[in-house]
Amino acid sequence: MQKTARTVVIHETGGPEVLKIEDRPLRDPGPGEVVIRHHACGLNFIDVYQRSGLYPLDLPHALGMEAAGVIEAVGEGVTHLQPGQRAAYAAMPPGAYCEARVMPAAQVCPLPGGISFETAAAMMLKGLTVEYLFHRTTPLKRGDTVLFHAAAGGVGLIACQWAKSEGIKLIGTAGTDDKCRLAMFNGATHCINYRTEDFESRVAEITGGKGVDVVMDSVGADTFNGSLNCLKPLGMMISFGNASGPVPLFDIGILAKKGSLKITRPTLFTHIADHSVCQAMARRLFNKVTGAEVKIHIDQRFALDEVAEAHRALEARKTTGSTILLP
Ligand code: NDP
Repeated sequence: MQKTARTVVIHETGGPEVLKIEDRPLRDPGPGEVVIRHHACGLNFIDVYQRSGLYPLDLPHALGMEAAGVIEAVGEGVTHLQPGQRAAYAAMPPGAYCEARVMPAAQVCPLPGGISFETAAAMMLKGLTVEYLFHRTTPLKRGDTVLFHAAAGGVGLIACQWAKSEGIKLIGTAGTDDKCRLAMFNGATHCINYRTEDFESRVAEITGGKGVDVVMDSVGADTFNGSLNCLKPLGMMISFGNASGPVPLFDIGILAKKGSLKITRPTLFTHIADHSVCQAMARRLFNKVTGAEVKIHIDQRFALDEVAEAHRALEARKTTGSTILLP
């Protein structure tokens, strides 16, 4: 076994220039761990938050939260994976931007033959997120209407298709007309260019003044207040990200004034903490993809060495769908 692996590491927080490639030792797996050799790694906005320091890590730290590849070795007590098996994961701790690594096995999932490594690396974190948003955060039923920001992004394009497959009307927002077309092509019933149109008044127009049942808002600072204004009385605000900056502090009384609104701030990692729940969520995602209800769009591919360029593109809103890094 090769005993080192090229790995993207940060020694300080900052811009994309802090991303460094290093040879890191690759140890044998301990109890409950596996060694996985990556064929493709996924890029996610959470990697930007960790690199910039918005989500603090102990430094130095490797980055990256999802990947797919082949199991090379398994530690004591691991029964759901064997050496030579194809597998994929979205999981803590960060460190997926690398050739190979040691991982806690609980969140590593056997990968069905019909799903390529690249597709898996492009969808685990984003697809499991959509799974919990649509099935585990608030009850959603056919005919409900969801407002989903950044609908042409990695999570967004999966959400558009997922909503359509569940009979849920998804009103998207996106930053260009081309992105809006892409979201609609993928199942959004409407898509608002929120850089040229006021999304609050457009949502009111589209819903005949009623508002939406649920908002899924990962943009944060720029959209949070407007999002609350788009909800029906008793509606649910799911604030699950901060691509434009953290959500400002707000007076909880506003939820009463706007009609007994509910709010939650979920993370994927609490949802997948339990091994069997994580594996069940992955099976639902795999079924959506193998059943052709959801197609994973890999719109950008970069070599591992080009990781800084990949981060620049994601932060500059130049990407659509998923981005992968090839080790
Ligand atoms: P995306 O591919 O969606 O990229 C982020 C998108 O956000 C951009 O393309 C852009 O789309 C939009 N955006 C709006 N304002 C800004 C801004 N100021 N700077 C940069 N982008 C902006 O990323 P991901 O699919 O990786 O993640 C989507 C969101 O979901 C992120 O906020 C992420 O943190 C969150 N997330 C949360 C999880 C959780 O469990 N809580 C798990 C997974 C993801 P446009 O140009 O169309 O506006």
